[in-house]
Amino acid sequence: VEVSGVAHALSKSRFQLGLQCQKLLWLKCRRPELADPITELQQHIFDTGTHVGVLARERFGGGMLVAEDHTQSSQALETTARLMADPPAAIFEAAFVHGGVFVRPDALVRAGDAWDLYEVKSGTKVKPENVTDVAVQVWVLEGAGLKIRRAYLMHLDNTYVYAGGDYDLGSLFAAEDVTADVRVWVPAIPDLVAEMLAMLDGPEPERRIGKHCDNPYTCAFYGYCHASLPERAITQLPRVTDELIASLLAAGIQAIDDIPPHFPGLTTAQRTVCETLRRGTARFDPRIEAVLGRLSFPIHFLDFETMQPALPLYPGTRTWQQVPFQWSDHILEADGMLRHCEFIAEADGDPRPAFVASMLEALGEEGSVVAYHASFEDTRLRELAAALPAQANAIERVRARLFDLEKPVRDFVQHPELLGRSSIKVVLPALVEGLGYDGLDIREGGTASLRYLRCALGVTGVDERAKVLEDLRAYCATDTLAMVELYRTLRREAGA
Ligand code: SF4
Repeated sequence: VEVSGVAHALSKSRFQLGLQCQKLLWLKCRRPELADPITELQQHIFDTGTHVGVLARERFGGGMLVAEDHTQSSQALETTARLMADPPAAIFEAAFVHGGVFVRPDALVRAGDAWDLYEVKSGTKVKPENVTDVAVQVWVLEGAGLKIRRAYLMHLDNTYVYAGGDYDLGSLFAAEDVTADVRVWVPAIPDLVAEMLAMLDGPEPERRIGKHCDNPYTCAFYGYCHASLPERAITQLPRVTDELIASLLAAGIQAIDDIPPHFPGLTTAQRTVCETLRRGTARFDPRIEAVLGRLSFPIHFLDFETMQPALPLYPGTRTWQQVPFQWSDHILEADGMLRHCEFIAEADGDPRPAFVASMLEALGEEGSVVAYHASFEDTRLRELAAALPAQANAIERVRARLFDLEKPVRDFVQHPELLGRSSIKVVLPALVEGLGYDGLDIREGGTASLRYLRCALGVTGVDERAKVLEDLRAYCATDTLAMVELYRTLRREAGA
């Protein structure tokens, strides 16, 4: 593999891919056209990383940037060599190659005749995969003749509370010294690199699917490797382990439907899924009726949408904080009457005060408040109470009325299509006929969050913004109407 004429096979990110799965690295280098298309969400994550990286440079108070991009590797090496002849105090995106590996450290800061290396991440803590990421860079830099004094992982600090105006970069970023962990890895790098380079010279390696397909990152070739699996693949078993997948595949079993009743190594939950599938019919435990019968009218079916800006947008918020911007409430009266209330902020400032005021008014003081996977709404309410002390008591009273509709589904429903899962997007098509998200432009929470965030960041134009807000209204209202229908279905089936 060559990049712009530089004879190297691996970049540090490809080295990371090779650690996750050799087949993944091989496909990335030899058959990149087989990769899954990049989703809107993935692109946003890449862009966020780039943006945070650029901001982090300002924290060093000056330095030289090697500006050539990833298509100009040879020129980047030349520029770096020129700069290193009379080294500046700090150098960003410098290019080095050694032993067949090409790296561009985010920042190198001079420390006498040595250098400190900084790797910038947009997360909020050091993850195990960050250490190998830095270790391969240290190995290349030292191989290229640099002395590395210390290695740091610089990440966003979620204890920093934004005060408005310019960010306090010294507080927004935290630099953790990872030198000791990195030094443990460095001696292992040459053998790992040699193994990967040899593998890349050969045919596509054999590798079974398993937990590594999602860990530490969802593999870009997930679709390619999983395409031959049947609809209810064994990978969908609840809490399935690599060992169980391997023993099922070794027995020639790819579909949950084909797992024999006494196959060894299944957990109780996995056996229940297999039995439910074999039976082919749903079971609703009559205890559902007692649980749902305790809810008091008017029942509010409530759902929040939130955005999570990596860099805080509003005073009083932190990095990656969930900021609620929309709620929907379907209100069911004892006589069966249904009303709908909703709120969505206009994306022109901190949405939380108007969000809370409108929500408290709609919820009043009476009736149960039903959410699906209610711990999410409960945590947001707790955060809102802390952020808006004047409303804290009223918010706490809402929290006391919360009921989680996911719980009776998880505890009391067995359905062949659920395969032990209980997320609303799986439960709804299985249990409620004719109500779904088809036809909506926004169909899941991640897209809702991202589309709104783009409006809040001012990336989305004014015309498009009206359409996004409309799509969000339709999406969130569908979520709460879905809960009403699910509640009705559960009561009907459990009482039948
Ligand atoms: S899907 Fe899994 S097995 Fe296939 S290349 Fe990716 S990580 Fe490897």
